[in-house]
Amino acid sequence: MDKPLPAALDIPARSLRAVWHPCTQMKRHEQAPPLEIVSGEGVWLTDAKGRRVVDAISSWWVNLFGHNQPSIKAAIRAQMDRVEHVMLAGLTHAPVVQLSEALAARTGLSHAHYGSDGSSATEIALKLSAHYWRNVGRPEKNRFIGLAGGYHGETVGALSVTDIPLFRANYGPLLRVSATVPVPDARARPTGMEQSQWVAHCVRALEAHLEVHAHETAALIVEPLVQCAAGFVMIAPQYLTRARELCTHFDVHLVADEIAVGMGRTGTFLACEQAGVRPDFVCLSKGLTGGYLPLSVVLTTDSIYHAFYDDDVALGFLHSHSYTGNPLACSAALATLALLNDAQLIANSERATILDAVFAPLTAHPRLIHARRLGMIWAWDVDGAPADFARHFAAAALKRGALLRPIGNTIYFMPPYVIDDDAATLLRDAALGALATVLTTATHPQASSPPLP
Ligand SMILES: *Cc1c(COP(=O)(O)O)cnc(C)c1O
Repeated sequence: MDKPLPAALDIPARSLRAVWHPCTQMKRHEQAPPLEIVSGEGVWLTDAKGRRVVDAISSWWVNLFGHNQPSIKAAIRAQMDRVEHVMLAGLTHAPVVQLSEALAARTGLSHAHYGSDGSSATEIALKLSAHYWRNVGRPEKNRFIGLAGGYHGETVGALSVTDIPLFRANYGPLLRVSATVPVPDARARPTGMEQSQWVAHCVRALEAHLEVHAHETAALIVEPLVQCAAGFVMIAPQYLTRARELCTHFDVHLVADEIAVGMGRTGTFLACEQAGVRPDFVCLSKGLTGGYLPLSVVLTTDSIYHAFYDDDVALGFLHSHSYTGNPLACSAALATLALLNDAQLIANSERATILDAVFAPLTAHPRLIHARRLGMIWAWDVDGAPADFARHFAAAALKRGALLRPIGNTIYFMPPYVIDDDAATLLRDAALGALATVLTTATHPQASSPPLP
């Protein structure tokens, strides 16, 4: 047995002894311990010393309406007084039914299968797609296509369709090879090529791949409009529209991973709506519960659902997780959907325009290039960033009261929708101040730091 911990150790020190933190090289914490958060209110988090910071990245993109949100909290409390959890095989409950109906009404996809986090939603969508083709007598259609730089989670199946070398490299032998096609990232557009030609070029690459491989391909998986983990690559909706047409033409499913971009983040409830596209599968998680509880869902069509509907048990989709459709999480999601009505989506877009003006000094900054925004996501790239930029910038911004985590050389804001002008101004000034510090103390431009989200 370990000895009891000396009382002198504070929470951050004890965290480093006992908690293996995600997406973190633990040794780096020798220089800066994790920040202990004791409470949250709206866009603000308060640390153990009573200092407040703006949660400008919505706690890894999950929080939509702020911390300590009254109606989401009340919904969870009310459900807790009824029943906290029951298994969803053989049993059902009102929150999961209401949520499935509400999501069907919003997306036109009428069947909802639940998981506990984003990666499990990716796994469910991939398995459903391949299993569908098997059920309809085409088992050879079991390969997947992803976009360059795509991120779909880090469990083994999800990592197989993720194209971020830092996350993949150590697990290569465990992963099933999937194909990667080019993405029309405006920043990578060859000189002399128009944006529309660049989109057409990438569409053509997808088409060429499908011409050869459609017979063995189950699905194309994409992050619609914004590849967040890749460094906020923004993709013209025309690409998605054309990709949908090609998938239909070549009899390949389209999986829309809306885990980060769904729930209004890009301005519409689903990002796909901006391309006028209905995918065969939509994955939602992150903002689904407003940042309160882990929950994910895969939504799909009647025709896919019916390919599993049979007297034969083995044709059914037998996938399960212990906490599938947890009633507390479903109640949080219902309360979140009630907040995220059409009026709120319009209000968000009006807010975003006002915030553009607040953030204008960043866009005008001589060292920030490729300013881009979609909905409530802002991003800028640092021109000639010094080595380890992301880490130094994050530390400098935190000192100034903003929780930011650049990805490589890309600074981004993805705040809760309720950010007000005061918090936005503080955020902007913290980013400008951090930029000044990091760019003056480190002089020689070098390869960027690893792009940890
Ligand atoms: C975060 C994310 C995932 C994985 O979700 P987890 O809950 O972290 O497993 C998958 N796809 C996208 C686009 C994401 O942003």
